[in-house]
Amino acid sequence: MNYQAILNVIEKELANFDAGGKVPTYIPELAKVPANKFGLNLYCQNGEHFNFGDYDELFSIQSISKVFTLTLAKKFGGKKIWDRVDVEPSGDPFNSLLQLENEKGIPRNPFINAGSLVIADILISELENPKKYLLEFVRKISNDQTINYDESVAASEKENGYRNIALVNYMKSLGNIKNNAEDVLDFYFYQCSLKMSCYQLSKAFMIFANKGKILSTGEKVITTNNTKRINAIMQTCGFYDEAGEFSFRVGLPGKSGVGGGIVAVHPGQYSVAVWSPLLNEKGNSEKGMKALEELTSLTGLSIF
Ligand code: GLU
Repeated sequence: MNYQAILNVIEKELANFDAGGKVPTYIPELAKVPANKFGLNLYCQNGEHFNFGDYDELFSIQSISKVFTLTLAKKFGGKKIWDRVDVEPSGDPFNSLLQLENEKGIPRNPFINAGSLVIADILISELENPKKYLLEFVRKISNDQTINYDESVAASEKENGYRNIALVNYMKSLGNIKNNAEDVLDFYFYQCSLKMSCYQLSKAFMIFANKGKILSTGEKVITTNNTKRINAIMQTCGFYDEAGEFSFRVGLPGKSGVGGGIVAVHPGQYSVAVWSPLLNEKGNSEKGMKALEELTSLTGLSIF
């Protein structure tokens, strides 16, 4: 298949696509990003990659980082992490305070903010220096030592993250946060501030398309079974209360972030990352979703 020709069609077709929506203003640093950025990188199982636009430019991966932290929590926390976070779609916005009223403050899944804050808490308990470990892990699976946190984005969110502060404190009152609330928030804001390009992200996510193995080295970093589980959670919970819509239109497991990035995988075939900062009402990149819908329609390569 001529992937580059297909990507060229998508780029051209969407050049004037009016995405509507807006950049997030609740994290002031993100509101500064030019709304017209648009790039995509497709990374194939055979190591080839194809792209267009701003595919090589760094952006804030935000909630996409929740997939990396879940991967590490599964590795170090084992099965017991499922006693503290569920695996059901929430049908609520990413930052919702709802559905925690159960006696133990157990979030619906690890990809809403509440769930990822519990995962951050688990990593703080399991690892001596979770910030360093996470960064090294992401660099390793991307085979790229230049990847880093964005201090100004982390600081910007720390100053304005009232809902996340509320979520941590509420869950702590119910006994589902074990560490100091400030430490949990600090780690969470740093993980969200990771800056990566579509190229780097699609390369990193090849572990989920390649049964847990890094494509370039062959090293297995997640078991086949855990890869299956993480892909399943991406499929059902990767897009907040728009997971059904993404599944319906694109047909791939994936994860979005409020930085405008979306990454999706086709196990055994490819991983793809797209970036366009304007978000729809549900907090997902509208143009990014459209690009991925076109990709799976034109190639016929969705998982369904
Ligand atoms: N750092 C963001 C927050 O907690 C992540 C949300 C997202 O990307 O969906 O609000």
